[in-house]
Amino acid sequence: MTYEPVIGLEVHVQLGTKSKLFCSCPTEFGAEPNKNTCPVCLGWPGSLPVLNEKALQLAMKVGLAINSHVSERLKFDRKNYFYPDLPKAYQISQYDMPVNNGGKLVIEGKNEKGEPYKKEIGITRAHLEEDAGKLLHEGIRDGSLVDYNRAGVPLLEIVSEPDLRSPEEAYEYLVALKAILQYLEVSECNMELGELRCDANVSVRKTGETKFGTKAEIKNLNSFKAVQKAIHYEIKRQTDLIEAGERVVQETRLWNDDKSQTFSMRSKEEAHDYRYFPEPDLVPFTISREAVEKIRQTLPELPSQRAERFIKNFGLSEYDAYVLVEDKILANYYEACLSHKVNAKLVSNWIQSELLALLNLNKKTIESSPVKPGALAGLIQLIENNTISGKIAKDVLPLMFETGKSAADIVKEKGWVQVTDTKLIEEVAERIIAANPKSAEDFKAGKEQALGFLVGQLMKETKGKANPKMANEILRKKLIPSS
Ligand code: ADP
Ligand code: ZN
Ligand code: MG
Repeated sequence: MTYEPVIGLEVHVQLGTKSKLFCSCPTEFGAEPNKNTCPVCLGWPGSLPVLNEKALQLAMKVGLAINSHVSERLKFDRKNYFYPDLPKAYQISQYDMPVNNGGKLVIEGKNEKGEPYKKEIGITRAHLEEDAGKLLHEGIRDGSLVDYNRAGVPLLEIVSEPDLRSPEEAYEYLVALKAILQYLEVSECNMELGELRCDANVSVRKTGETKFGTKAEIKNLNSFKAVQKAIHYEIKRQTDLIEAGERVVQETRLWNDDKSQTFSMRSKEEAHDYRYFPEPDLVPFTISREAVEKIRQTLPELPSQRAERFIKNFGLSEYDAYVLVEDKILANYYEACLSHKVNAKLVSNWIQSELLALLNLNKKTIESSPVKPGALAGLIQLIENNTISGKIAKDVLPLMFETGKSAADIVKEKGWVQVTDTKLIEEVAERIIAANPKSAEDFKAGKEQALGFLVGQLMKETKGKANPKMANEILRKKLIPSS
């Protein structure tokens, strides 16, 4: 029996405003505990919330970028529950009239065979709500401490449809969403700083079944990789339960990254448990279509549009274009290389295969890359004008990385300039043929691979410096002069 996972993600992103959602307290990170608080965000009697217009604008901006419909009419609701991090004992959120309705996001995945595919993931809604405070338990002997600096910070909760079908798709969804949020300059999406938080809803069903299975909601996911791992774990746990003739119960589970397991936290609460009701201190209001259009005018080029441009103008494959645009800084780096007039596809290949691998190996990011766009372009120019072969260039790049020197300087110092001297290559070719009579005969008798071997020997003899195309042509001519 095979099973199909069904996954929906709920992402909370902190909107980059200077002040909180309903008061003028600053949202800065790292302030002294409880410094950024006031009667409104502490829920003192008689205090009244006022909506932060900038937060609403950012929420609409995200909505438009994910193809949502920005509502004509907006309302805020109280979601009631008691917890020490929630001073009012309710959270101001949006229940049935969210700022953004519907929407979609395109993800670029790879199937089991490694072939790229595109898929549209539905967005259910994206609503505004306020954050809670932060409880501190660790290292405190008697009880816990609470810091309300975060209480009232604006969040946008983006809820996906249950359209994701694998942990990898969930990962790609987060990558695509993060890219959009970065392009909009809404958030840096640093999960460690809590700027982006994700809950994963996971169920499994027998392949071919059309009804969804019972889901578990997983919380405490602190990186995209953790989301992927937790979903993997959860799929296996639920599949094993069903195979053993047991049932999956609807519940909230916590991911433990050290143990790589999920643990039951509480049985899932339903919407009615929260006694949602309209926030009486904030009246419903209308958003004019002109206001929406005005926000739409401020949208920058989005990742999908940038990918289209890369495909159309630079001839990149869809997959390569997406790898580049999904990281704004990487895409900027790429375009900075192109300003030095180098072949667009060649640069893309060099960034994606060589540079990213080197950065990874050295635990560096594209931002901290010791090889700047101009320097990489310099290396690629040497390949393009036949000063060095691609093979030699692969040895040059790590040295540029280490020393910060230019490609041209390294090539000169090492004496790695490509040999394009016909006479010299001819001399070596003769020696190689003399030393490998069997291969020479094989090639003459029609065995094409034998030539490859001889070219390889020539390249070895010249320490990779001979121009491979010339080596090939010269050997061929020497063996079969009429060719
Ligand atoms: P709840 O009422 O439990 O919060 P929602 O219908 O609001 O559930 O959905 C919350 C999230 O769970 C959404 O992202 C949705 O796509 C996802 N989801 C809903 N049903 C399932 C299911 N059976 N399996 C996996 N995910 C689901
Ligand atoms: Zn406040
Ligand atoms: Mg829900």
